[in-house]
Order: sequence, then C-alpha cells, then structure tokens
Amino acid sequence: MEIVQSRLLAAFPHGFTTREGGVSPPPFSSLDLGGGAAGDDPGRVAENWERLRRQTGLAFGRVRQVHGARVVIDPAPGEPREEADAVVSRVPGQAACVSVADCVPILIADPASGAVAAVHAGWRGTLARIAAEATRALARAAGARPEALLAAVGPSIGPCCYEVSPELAGRFREEFGAEVVGSEERPHLDLWSANRRALLAAGLDPENIEILGLCTSCAPARFFSHRRDAGRTGRQVGFIAPLP
Ligand SMILES: [Zn+2]
Repeated sequence: MEIVQSRLLAAFPHGFTTREGGVSPPPFSSLDLGGGAAGDDPGRVAENWERLRRQTGLAFGRVRQVHGARVVIDPAPGEPREEADAVVSRVPGQAACVSVADCVPILIADPASGAVAAVHAGWRGTLARIAAEATRALARAAGARPEALLAAVGPSIGPCCYEVSPELAGRFREEFGAEVVGSEERPHLDLWSANRRALLAAGLDPENIEILGLCTSCAPARFFSHRRDAGRTGRQVGFIAPLP
C-alpha cells in the first residue's frame, strides 16, 4: 500500500491513499475506499478499509460528503452518518478522514493542542471557503491559533487538467483573483491555489501550507479521477490523527 505523506505534517499520523494495496477489480482497482456508490462490491470496499486500518492502526471518523461547508467535531468512527464536508478530531487514534477522486483533500494540524482536521473541497466547497470554516472550527474546538496551524493540500485534479466553463471561471476570478483560472479563452481552475488563498485569509502562515502538487487526472496508475474516468472509478482518502 502506497500512502503519500506531507513533509510539514511528518509529526502526525497522516496520509493520502493511492490506488495501490486493495482488492477491488477494475475500474475500482484496487484500494477503493468509496461507499460503493459507483458500483464497486461493498464487501471488497469493506476489506479495503480493513487493510487501511491494519496498515495505520487508526480508526476513521467520516461524514456523508455533500459539497457544502459544514464541519463535524469528533464523529464516531465507522460508517459516516452526518452530512458535512470537514471533520475535526481531538481523539488520539481516531483520524479525521475525507474521501475524494479529484476534489481536494486538505489536512490541517495544530502542533500545540495536537488536534487535527480533514477537509473535502471540490469546486463548490472551495468557493464556499470550507478550508477557512474548518480552520475556524479547529480554532474553536481546540483553542488553536490559526497562525500556528500546519496544512497540506493533497492529490486532486490540477490546473493542468481542470478545464471549466467561462461562467464558473468568472465566479472563481471574482472570489479568489484572476491567477486561479488561467487563460481567458480556455480557463483551467487551480483549486490548489484557491484553497491556499482561503487558508491564508483564515490566518495561516504561508510557510505552513504545503501543496503536494499531485494531479489525480495525470496519474491513472496511481490515483482515481472522477473526471478522467467519467465517474466509473473508486475513491482515495486523506486522513490525519491527533497527536497522543
Ligand atoms: Zn493534470
């Protein structure tokens, strides 16, 4: 099982899964951690989760992701119940976890309290500044100071591959500036940069934000990509657990 890690978050149990190390057949090969909604066998998905639990020694607090901006604090591990798009965890051994397949997974950590957050930001969540909502929730729940937080922006569709309509590009230009949409004629969204801006506006230090720069659509052997595979694909996850 290949788990991608952030240099900034090295002190925390954390990672971004890849396709490697599971039991699902194509087009879900092989470590599909989705809910089986795209058609994968639920038994295989359950076995994939079991493998991730064995590999990491963690439990996973998740939510039913709905492309909003709501944050849940310390959800019980297991099947996701509440509708939200970010998770804060203050319980050691219990990771905050989000699933993605092009959308941006963002992991946030507070070295002072040890508390953490995981964020799912597609274009809707990015526009709704869910990264900033999660930062505020972490600050409230753990007494964290935003300027001390560390954040990593994980594997997701990059500006290389994410061409969008002029209408959507216009909304992003208005919210985050022209730099996040590229050229006028063929706009490509840079969700990494837009989320970085949201984190900076929420008070994070530029040196405390790491963008991994890994595009899911560019790497078919390594990552699931909803857009590249026209929906017939699995899900990878980003997770981070509090310091003991
Ligand atoms: Zn790409």
